[in-house]
Amino acid sequence: MKLTRSKIEEVIISIAGTEGLRLVRELKSKENISEFVLATNLKRDIKIVRNLLYKLYNYNLISSIRKKDKQKGWYIYYWTLIPDNIKFLYLKNKKVELIKLKARLKKEQTEQFYTCPKKCIRLDFDQAIDFEFRCPECGELISHHHDPKIIIKLEKRIFKLEEELKNAEKEKLMIKKIQKKKIIKEELTKEKTAKKTIVKKKATKKKPKKKKIKKKSVKKKVVKKKSTIKKIKLKKPSKKTSQKKNKPSKKGTKPVKKKSKKKIKKKAIKKK
Ligand SMILES: [Zn+2]
Repeated sequence: MKLTRSKIEEVIISIAGTEGLRLVRELKSKENISEFVLATNLKRDIKIVRNLLYKLYNYNLISSIRKKDKQKGWYIYYWTLIPDNIKFLYLKNKKVELIKLKARLKKEQTEQFYTCPKKCIRLDFDQAIDFEFRCPECGELISHHHDPKIIIKLEKRIFKLEEELKNAEKEKLMIKKIQKKKIIKEELTKEKTAKKTIVKKKATKKKPKKKKIKKKSVKKKVVKKKSTIKKIKLKKPSKKTSQKKNKPSKKGTKPVKKKSKKKIKKKAIKKK
């Protein structure tokens, strides 16, 4: 829903009158305007301006900050308009209006109304009894009055209001969806960047490992010359488990193997 000029006018005039509207125009698309600046711009007394500001503030249509004047020692208030709250109040007023119109329509459809020949005033049954079926304006007798145009007008107004509120609600949902999508996107990008940094860290850690592998391959080459069986044993990462497995089955060969491993290691170191 666009906050058009007419909508702003409707809301502000209902709260603070045309003077309030002038004040809102001074505040529009600005931030933190001093109350004294507003008073000089509007050519109004500071008390009148403050009174208007408080009216708007009571409906949460403006916000304020206060700063101490270093020279005079008192506080000066600086004001900012909250356009979203004008929108909110506009829609709230429309909802109230819709409820009232629906009640009025129901009354028109179910109750009887009375008026004089000059049609000065229109009274419902209770009011007609109170005035003893005489017009309170001209004193003429009043009679039953039924005007289908009134019902048609009310129905049209109700339809328009309902459409306006429906569209505003749809827009609200759309904005919420867009905001949700934005949040999800932001979270995803955060996760991605976090993953990338982790991968980068891993990559930097892996580099020295690769070097080790290269060294191992050098070792392997040394071993290759001796025997293929020994090479396989060296490849195993966990030496403890391999030793444990060897313990029960090959007790006699154990010391020999150890010697051979040591020899290989020494040779490898020498070649470095
Ligand atoms: Zn009359």
